[in-house]
Amino acid sequence: MEQVTANVFSEAKLRGCNPSYVTTSDGVVVVDTPQLPTRAVAMRREAERHGPIRYVINTEHHVDHIFGNYYFKGAGTVVHHQGVFDRFMVPGPELDPFAYAAEAIPTDDPEGAAIFPERDVYYADPNKGQIVFTGDLTLSVGDHTFRLLHTPGHTPGQIAVHVPEERVVFTGDTVFSECQTWLMTSDVDQWVSALETIRALDVDHLVPGHGPITTTKYLDVQRAVLLEWKAAVAAAVAKGWSREETIERVNFADRYPVDIGQEYMMGYIQTLNAASLYDKLTAAAAAR
Ligand SMILES: [Zn+2]
Repeated sequence: MEQVTANVFSEAKLRGCNPSYVTTSDGVVVVDTPQLPTRAVAMRREAERHGPIRYVINTEHHVDHIFGNYYFKGAGTVVHHQGVFDRFMVPGPELDPFAYAAEAIPTDDPEGAAIFPERDVYYADPNKGQIVFTGDLTLSVGDHTFRLLHTPGHTPGQIAVHVPEERVVFTGDTVFSECQTWLMTSDVDQWVSALETIRALDVDHLVPGHGPITTTKYLDVQRAVLLEWKAAVAAAVAKGWSREETIERVNFADRYPVDIGQEYMMGYIQTLNAASLYDKLTAAAAAR
């Protein structure tokens, strides 16, 4: 894994999110778990070399940030915002998170097949939150502070984890660094304010949900991506385009690649980003 600071380690080159851990004088805190089974087991082993794992924190409920919790059972207390806890691995109309985790195994982690659970075994104990909070939460572990800041927008239960002693913030998917942004379960207006919450932190390193580790300067790029998407779909609605026309014509595929291992999802992302914004921007009219 990549060493970001004296005590922060992160992995930005795997399929899935950027799972990370922080070492303290009293054990280790994990922030998001690897989606791929063998990588989850390996990261747990590596983290435990620095001491016992005290907490596993997930920044959001999307499968690529939480599925690996299964392989961290018995390793510390799992901490979730209420919004993460309520949606943890719940199948939605567009995506069955368990099937999505299974689909990655043959291509990205064939050796993981041997430790990939049956669906009912998995759901009997997926290792979800034991501490569940609303608002913000501060944890003190050894000589480190973990400020869990509610930053909804990408998802309702989204948090950022600020570790002031390391001058680091983990943003989850509030920041997609140099890769495609997934908008479907999002509230773009809330998301833009979440960027300002993060901008106000005094940090040197920003560990995004996906893509290379960056700095708070990148928040300007993320804001532009969100505003451009929203403006483009708003303009489509103003021109009277149908949902289908909007999906066909509003497309930012040329802007960035999709994060590692999910290149085949480009069409899905473009379609659902445009469709979800179209539905939100026309909802008030449809309700009349
Ligand atoms: Zn993600």
